[in-house]
Amino acid sequence: MYANVQLFIDGTWRDSLSGKTIPVINPATEEVIGHVAHAEIPDLDLALTAVEKGFETWRKVSAFERSKIMRKTADLLRERVDQIALTMTLEQGKPLAEARGETLGAADTIDWFAEEARRAYGRVVPARSEGVYQLVIKEPVGPVAAFTPWNFPLNQVVRKLSAALAAGCSIIVKAPEETPGSPAELIRAFADAGVPEGVVNLVYGVPAQISEYLIPHPVIKKISFTGSTPVGKQLAALAGLHMKRATMELGGHAPAIVFDDADLDVAATMLSSAKFRNAGQVCVAPTRFLVQEKVYDQFIEKFTAKAKALKVGDGTQEGITMGPLANERRAPALESFIQDAIQHGAELVTGGSRIGNKGYFFEPTIVANVPTSARVMNEEPFGPLALVSSFRDFEDAVAESNRLPYGLAAYAITRSAKTATALAQSIESGMLTINHLGLALPEVPFGGIKDSGYGSEGGLEAIEAYLNTKFVSQGSL
Ligand code: NAD
Repeated sequence: MYANVQLFIDGTWRDSLSGKTIPVINPATEEVIGHVAHAEIPDLDLALTAVEKGFETWRKVSAFERSKIMRKTADLLRERVDQIALTMTLEQGKPLAEARGETLGAADTIDWFAEEARRAYGRVVPARSEGVYQLVIKEPVGPVAAFTPWNFPLNQVVRKLSAALAAGCSIIVKAPEETPGSPAELIRAFADAGVPEGVVNLVYGVPAQISEYLIPHPVIKKISFTGSTPVGKQLAALAGLHMKRATMELGGHAPAIVFDDADLDVAATMLSSAKFRNAGQVCVAPTRFLVQEKVYDQFIEKFTAKAKALKVGDGTQEGITMGPLANERRAPALESFIQDAIQHGAELVTGGSRIGNKGYFFEPTIVANVPTSARVMNEEPFGPLALVSSFRDFEDAVAESNRLPYGLAAYAITRSAKTATALAQSIESGMLTINHLGLALPEVPFGGIKDSGYGSEGGLEAIEAYLNTKFVSQGSL
């Protein structure tokens, strides 16, 4: 059911030169289900040679042709959705329905960037003298190094990969070692659709070793990283030291503000689905639930009922709505957050513990009245853990929302257009969704501000990140 995963370098699937591999574990069973090739410096050197050659090839392929290959890739993903989704669930844990959704979403993302490829327009600026043309030209930035995490094994890769390819860049993807199989299938779809040799390369290994080697390397011209803020800051510093362009999609700690004029049934349904999707291991997941005093108890009751109704289990099984945590590190991290919150006076409303002793299953957990001094109110929980506290008025809610250095996503529910408008003007975050779940579509910007990083991975801003702007002023003799 689960195939071993190789490196993809210069159009060839191969083992690492050393033959070393890393085991892949199914988080629902804790069994080793396969192995992934472990690249070291000599493998990276091959990938660098390939990506440099790949760039020379791909930059000369017209946007029209690039777009056609990308659309074909999207179709292949749709044809292969069942097999890719199963691979993803086995290695990452999320329910099959979510894995299917992620795969089909990846196909949509490729289609969007395939369209954008043909619209990477420059412009002509009116000149001050007759006979002068002032041309603004967009050119691909060059070979890219992309580093992606395990929570959305496909989605995190496809945003970087499709934007890079649409712009005419070649790429080395350092995909997650813990969930290597489904991103490998994405790369396979691109290769099968006709992306030339060397344009797309895939490696796995020790993340720090690979980033320390690739980021400073003169062949690499652009970095894109998704992961935690501390690692992002290190990689951004390294990119800065070597004057490399960078996109950083880092952690978040999203406020979800429920005003007392909200429909509480809608609020509980909507926010619980956003909270517990992918067992809460989502950078834009709502984490700090801020509920206006008058409706606080009522909201907690409805929200708790939703959490208790979730069916936690092996994501390959029918009817499961929340899978295990993706790796064994998350459970102790969550337990320690919960314990610390309770020590600070918070109340455990539901959940709080691991389920069973096989597989990394964790109860959907709600903790109420959490003081801001608790560690989890300041660090990203990254798991099925909701923190609920009350607020008095609009200013109160905004002050708490903006208190942290994070600024990725924010959620709000209100029937008041005035409140909605005021929120849009006051909330410090890269994304804000009001009264519905509207984040992370390919055609809209996706990215953070403050410690959540910089750059966007959706909308037309995303392709811009892979383009250089060149100005040409042409006079006539
Ligand atoms: P981690 O910080 O060690 O790793 C996070 C990701 O960064 C992983 O994919 C890892 O392979 C990669 N990474 C780590 N060090 C790296 C380096 N020096 N160079 C290149 N890549 C590197 O933590 P973890 O235990 O894997 O995940 C836990 C934390 O990571 C979470 O609390 C969350 O904050 C963050 N995270 C964020 C996202 C996201 O979507 N933004 C995804 C996964 C993890």
